[in-house]
Amino acid sequence: MARQRNSMQKLLITETLRRMDHPTAAEVYEQVRQDCPQISLGTVYRNLGSMADEGTVLRLSFTDEPDRFDPQTHEHFHVVCSCCGRIFDTDASIEPALVHRLDRAVERCTGVRVQSRSLLFEGVCAKCQEEGATAEVTVVQGAASAPRSTAQDFVAEVTVAQGAASAPRGTAGGVNGTGRSHSSIEQKSTRRQKGRNHVTHR
Ligand SMILES: [Zn+2]
Ligand SMILES: [Zn+2]
Repeated sequence: MARQRNSMQKLLITETLRRMDHPTAAEVYEQVRQDCPQISLGTVYRNLGSMADEGTVLRLSFTDEPDRFDPQTHEHFHVVCSCCGRIFDTDASIEPALVHRLDRAVERCTGVRVQSRSLLFEGVCAKCQEEGATAEVTVVQGAASAPRSTAQDFVAEVTVAQGAASAPRGTAGGVNGTGRSHSSIEQKSTRRQKGRNHVTHR
């Protein structure tokens, strides 16, 4: 009986997460309890944590902010609005060629064979632009190979995952890292406070 209730709760959490946009556990809880008032915040946290560990959801970790959860577990990149905090997925169709070039650039300068990546862009979303918000744009890292217009529009933080710093040159190719779950990639953000709170999230 308890097991049946647990799997019902897990299913409800999963379905709710799919309807939402990179929510925090607390936001998932607020939605889930509309359908299941007896569910606790702890249950939602625990289920999301175990799903992230299993790799059935992606956990996005941000500095000084609660983790967010994403039902899309394939490798994809995120754009965060520095005004309202909303997180967008990039369109998968733009990625392969860009990613390939970026990988080669990283490999050329570090000797590390890239196996996975975590990319976060930051800027001002269309809605916040309409509402007149502006944000100071800084090129942080990894924008050297990007076209100038792109570099000016976004702040990109590039992280080469999987021990890039410690892998000796020439041995990275021998590391068997394929099939690694994206759930274990921590997507870190140094979200700048500049420009935030100009627009309240509705
Ligand atoms: Zn925004
Ligand atoms: Zn996403």
